[in-house]
Amino acid sequence: MDLNDNMSLETLINDVIALAKSEAIGKPPTIRLSQETAALLLAVGEPGTVPPQPATTETVDAAPHAIAASPAAARPEEEQEMKPAALPATSSSEILKDIAAEVTQCEKCPLGAQRQNAVPGEGNAHASLVFVGEAPGASEDRQGRPFVGRAGGLLTDIIVKGMEIKREDVFICNVLKCRPPGNRTPNPEEVTQCEPYLLRQLEAIGPKVICALGATAAQTLLKTTEPIKRLRGAWHNYHGIPFRVTYHPAYLLRNPVDKKKTWEDIQEVMRALSGEITPEI
Ligand code: SF4
Repeated sequence: MDLNDNMSLETLINDVIALAKSEAIGKPPTIRLSQETAALLLAVGEPGTVPPQPATTETVDAAPHAIAASPAAARPEEEQEMKPAALPATSSSEILKDIAAEVTQCEKCPLGAQRQNAVPGEGNAHASLVFVGEAPGASEDRQGRPFVGRAGGLLTDIIVKGMEIKREDVFICNVLKCRPPGNRTPNPEEVTQCEPYLLRQLEAIGPKVICALGATAAQTLLKTTEPIKRLRGAWHNYHGIPFRVTYHPAYLLRNPVDKKKTWEDIQEVMRALSGEITPEI
């Protein structure tokens, strides 16, 4: 099969990964592939097809939502009998760009008319880890980027110096994409209107772990009023994704004594990312 025919292999693989991750959230870890797609994937690595690529930060590890070709995919005699499944038209990064474009135009709640800039979120479209805060603050509202003020600097230190990964390798966003006036707590109606954007972002990314930053983000997403001291120290389930809670960096700037507890939370997240533990949710 000539892999240069009509279709970019890289685009195909990205599309298949996006489809697999989209299908896998909250479902058993297998997905059926069309004969055509399976044959193309099986051809990868064969001499004369595609040279081996070095691992990069864009490499997608779909576990725990692993991709498995169906047994039928290995039976070439059946290839002519099966119709190819429709592939998604967009990759994860394109889906995230589309969501960001929608967010910048959104006025589903009153915050849309009050913002300087919407803050959809930023980071790796295939990130294993997604940090979710409460809502943009003044600095974020000015720049249209999440966690860019002093608190953002501390979060960056946690990621880069603590976890020893690049900030660009994770995805960072908030429950609300627009700043509430005076940094007040989001109200339930705003959350109801805005949370679907977060769900779509998570569906596109398919992370292994979500880390909620602060009590409000955790309580909002878990639909609970439990205090953060009870939410920390345990794994939770957010739409089938392991969910860990730690303190908001802004809180840590005011209460540096709790940095030690945050580091304990982050280490648990790192154990889950490395596969050392499998969170029970
Ligand atoms: S906060 Fe969310 S729902 Fe409200 S206007 Fe902004 S993007 Fe839309």
